Parts: sequence; structure tokens; C-alpha cells
Amino acid sequence: MFCYIGGNENEGHFSLINQACSMFAHTNPLHMDVFPSVVRFEAEVVAMTAALLGSKEKSSGGQICGNMTSGGTESILLAVKSSRDYMKAKKGITKPEMIIPVSAHSAYDKAAEYFKIKLWRVPVDKEFRADSKAIKKYINKNTIMIVGSAPGFPHGIIDPIEELGELASSYKICLHVDLCLGGFVLPFARKLGYPVPPFDFTVQGVTSISVDVHKYGLAPKGTSVVLYRNHDIRKHQFVAVTEWTGGLYISPTIAGSRPGGLIAGAWAAMMSLGLEGYLENTKQIMEASKRIQKGIQEIPELFVIGRPDMSIIAFGSDVVDIFEVNDVLSSKGWHLNALQRPNSIHICVTLQHASVAQEFVKDVKDAFQTVKQNPGPMSGGLAPIYGAAGRIPDRVMVKDLLIDYMDGTC
Ligand SMILES: *Cc1c(COP(=O)(O)O)cnc(C)c1O
Repeated sequence: MFCYIGGNENEGHFSLINQACSMFAHTNPLHMDVFPSVVRFEAEVVAMTAALLGSKEKSSGGQICGNMTSGGTESILLAVKSSRDYMKAKKGITKPEMIIPVSAHSAYDKAAEYFKIKLWRVPVDKEFRADSKAIKKYINKNTIMIVGSAPGFPHGIIDPIEELGELASSYKICLHVDLCLGGFVLPFARKLGYPVPPFDFTVQGVTSISVDVHKYGLAPKGTSVVLYRNHDIRKHQFVAVTEWTGGLYISPTIAGSRPGGLIAGAWAAMMSLGLEGYLENTKQIMEASKRIQKGIQEIPELFVIGRPDMSIIAFGSDVVDIFEVNDVLSSKGWHLNALQRPNSIHICVTLQHASVAQEFVKDVKDAFQTVKQNPGPMSGGLAPIYGAAGRIPDRVMVKDLLIDYMDGTC
């Protein structure tokens, strides 16, 4: 199973969330008057998330606001759309361009295609961090926004958000910070004493943030939060139709009807873990990450990419084909992501790894030796594929199938 949840509390946490989801499975925040409870859950999830990311600090301006969405991608799509329309209203930009580091998530490509924005992808510096000098060269009168990640998905490295903030402020353009991975880890890692550079609304120039509750927030899949510095920016996210024969229609996000059950599930996850739960989880995750990083650095023929800031460790090799190492690791049950430029693989350390960090390092060492001694592509079969029969199964089979699926993935 790959998921962010692990350890002894696993089952209790799962069942609490499942209960919350099922209790509210038939609710929909689109109908605010009918389901005031889910509207409140959403407001509280947004407020709690914002408080983690600087909304309570004076320097944030005290107006941080936002919404829940279906995931990091939707949060990013909305932030880009709102930034585009905000810049149109403020600066009259009608041929929008956005500049992002090559390490930024593919969701920005999606946003650029959907919303007709010219996208510049700029190389990162030698440490694999966004290069603000390089980004500056691409800024022109059509630039609506720049982007930083804390950390970026590929290598788990935090971009220099303060430098990007200065750039955004001086050109009066938007700066989105992608905290999809970091939002529920970095504030706690800092509390634990790990060096964490500024990354949230306390940095001047940051106009929006995306943060996934369904990753390290340990909420059910399909939950994320998009936040804005103030209402002036967020109002461009909304669509309000006043002349429709169906009546007044006001929708804040991409979906119209939205799953109230997931909102309740996210609320339950946050309330039950609390600050203490996230702090304890982060402690375990960071300790396991450092052990894994150290273990990999001790294998001379492997290199770790940059200096990982959090719990994603990317590594490659000049001696063997790292993707062959990945194949061997897969056969041992480890699921790492394959990366390119340079070829490498990364592990995203979660609670599940806390007790098996040493085992992982040993398996990496063994896998490396196996490939070094037997270079060449590995052969192996495909995992069995369920549900490919092309028909709706009998009712009685469904429970068995669900259990089979759960065994393979979560
Ligand atoms: C996961 C992730 C996203 C996209 O989120 P989805 O929930 O997969 O849509 C964006 N940015 C970063 C840094 C991520 O880790």
C-alpha cells in the first residue's frame, strides 16, 4: 500500500475518516442553505490551514482567505486563473505569461493550456533551486505571475521564496507558492528545530498558496486548499451568473456540486490529529528521511540530488542505470518515482517508512550491487490487473474485489 498514513494509528485514523466521509457522503456545499455543516467544515479547514501558513502573523495583512478543492492540481489551476484575472483587472494584461522553474509541477502546464497563458520554464541553479536571476530575465509587461515550490516534487528542495517575493513585489506581479507537499510538514519541522527558510504568507510578495490536505495532512484523497493573500485576489476565482433561467448561480471552484463527505473527512483528520499529531508525525518522518539520506550518501556510487529540505530524497548514479536499480527495488516492494534530467529516482518518505528506514537503505545497497554485477534490463511480469472483464461484476463479488484492491494499493 502506498499512502501517507502508517504506523499504529493507521486503522483508527482510517476508520474515523471513513465514518466522517460516509456520514456526509450525500451533502454538497453548493447548497449552502441546505448543508450549513459542510460549509462550516470547509471554512474551518481553510482557517486552520491558513493559520499554519502565517495568516495569524501581522505581516500577512490579516485577510488570508481561500477554499477547499479536489487536489493540488485544482488548487494550482484556480490560483493561476485568479492571478490571470487579477492582473488583467489591475494592470490590463491581456496576453498573459507565467514563469516557472523546470522543477515546478506539471499542473502549471495544465493551467497554461486551459487558461491560454504563455508558459516559460526556466532552468534551476546548481543546487536545483529556482534561479531568481534567470526568472527575472523572462519578466516583461505581459508577465502575470512567477512560481516557487516548498518543496518541489522532484527533488524535495525548497525554492528561495524570499528572493522570488522581492521579485514579485518589485514588478507588482503575483507569486504562487506550491506548498502541496510541504504545507503540513514544514511548519512542524521548523518547530522541531530543522532549518526551514521562509515559505509562507509572512514573505512579502506571496499572493497565493496551494496545500494538499490529502498528502501529509492525512486527509482522504480529493482534498486540498487554495489560499490567497486577500479577497481582492480571490474574488477572481468565483463565477457568479445572475441572469441564468436556473436562478442565481455562484460557484467558487471548478466543480459545481462538491463532495461534502470529503470536506468532513478532511476536517475530521485535522481535528483528530491536531497540532500535536502533526508534530509527532513530522518528527518521525524527518528522522526517517535523514536516516535514509545519510544511508544513500554512504553508497559512493550513488549521489543525492541537491540538499533535500524535507522528506523527499532523490538520487542517481554515474556508475549504473538508476532505473534498473529502481526495477530491483520494485521487485522488493518499494515504489519510488522515476525522474529525469538527470535520471534519478526519489522516495517520498511517509509515516509508513518510519520503522523501515534501515531496511530501505539496505535494499538500495543490495539493489545497487545486483545491478552493478548484472547490468542490463530486468525482466518481469506485469502485476495482475483486476476488473478488466469489461462488465459490471455481480454484487456478491464486490466486497472480495475491494479487499483485493486494498491489498495492492491505497
Ligand atoms: C502532488 C503535488 C501537486 C499536484 O497535486 P495533486 O493532488 O496530485 O493534483 C502539485 N505540486 C506539488 C509540489 C505536489 O507534490
